[in-house]
Amino acid sequence: MSFKILPKHLFKTWVERLRATHRVVAPKEVYGQYIFDEIHSADEIVLDYHTSVLPPKKYLLPPREELFDFNAKTMEMRPLIEEIQPTVIFALHTCDMHAMTILDKIHDTGYADQHYQARRRKTTLVSIECLTPCMEHAFCKSMGTLSVPDSFDIHLTDLGDRYAVDVGSEQGEALVEGMTFFWQATETDYDKVNEVMATKWPSFQYRLDFDVTELPDLLAVSLKSPVWDELGDICLACGQCTKVCPTCYCFDVVDEVDLRLEHGKRIRVWDSCLIEKFAVVAGGHNFRSSRARRLRHRFNRKGKFQQEAYGLLGCVGCGRCALSCPVHITPVDTFNRLNARRQRAQEGQARSS
Ligand code: SF4
Ligand code: SF4
Repeated sequence: MSFKILPKHLFKTWVERLRATHRVVAPKEVYGQYIFDEIHSADEIVLDYHTSVLPPKKYLLPPREELFDFNAKTMEMRPLIEEIQPTVIFALHTCDMHAMTILDKIHDTGYADQHYQARRRKTTLVSIECLTPCMEHAFCKSMGTLSVPDSFDIHLTDLGDRYAVDVGSEQGEALVEGMTFFWQATETDYDKVNEVMATKWPSFQYRLDFDVTELPDLLAVSLKSPVWDELGDICLACGQCTKVCPTCYCFDVVDEVDLRLEHGKRIRVWDSCLIEKFAVVAGGHNFRSSRARRLRHRFNRKGKFQQEAYGLLGCVGCGRCALSCPVHITPVDTFNRLNARRQRAQEGQARSS
């Protein structure tokens, strides 16, 4: 929509102006880690953070939320849609922007999720170009998420003494409207953006040993791969990998009812397909009882099932699950091991034919 320039020394002025009308959420440092949290001063924002512990999805899909309340006697129900303050989330990395695109699509397909959408309507996203890898586990270049998706509201690029401010939506336009300290980009600014982007690209490595477009097929032929049992043998079924994932959205629902069993609320809480009880159904049957099968399911969701259902891969290469897994199970290692086995099997077939 428009391409503007913001001098760096005026960035905090912009944030403070936004704080007058919005809740502003941004990465900030807490005990050496970075978390997305509401800021109460522009001084708290850390733009050059490595990855955050939890992704910003927690502002759209909270770990615990009330869906509706009910009267068990009269059978009346009332939806509980949270009306949040207009919110700006600052400094999303491009992988997290891709994750938001996936969540938007999922929650707007079929039975649209009113709770998610009510929050999303009030949320504007300000992303930032990653100029160097944020951490060793990130593999965004392999997953095609190193550039911002088209759905951004505002995207910032650090040009040294100034930010390039790419405005991509009307919601984004509203955040810069009337702010006279932005100016229209000149030829010099465009040249600087090109220079910065050309320098950035080689500093990221491809970490998958194959092209990501092959991933759904690789998983399809790997259904019976021994890799799943090897990983299942060491997995602790702690569910940590799903808790930190920006694209995981599986949940459980519980009813909280008062002591007289009259009034209650239905609550949605985060769940994890890696924990043992996730797939337990009536009669106590567990249709994914082994850790190997649960891991296989999770990696298939990331690399195959969501591609088939929504046209987008379910993994954006942020690396959070690799960072947080206590036994070092990582998507890169898993996918590369499956690929190596597939290659060995193909070579064996070629020799015997
Ligand atoms: S599966 Fe892991 S690397 Fe992929 S998006 Fe989720 S947390 Fe990030
Ligand atoms: S974090 Fe690691 S050990 Fe825990 S459930 Fe996930 S893969 Fe298994």
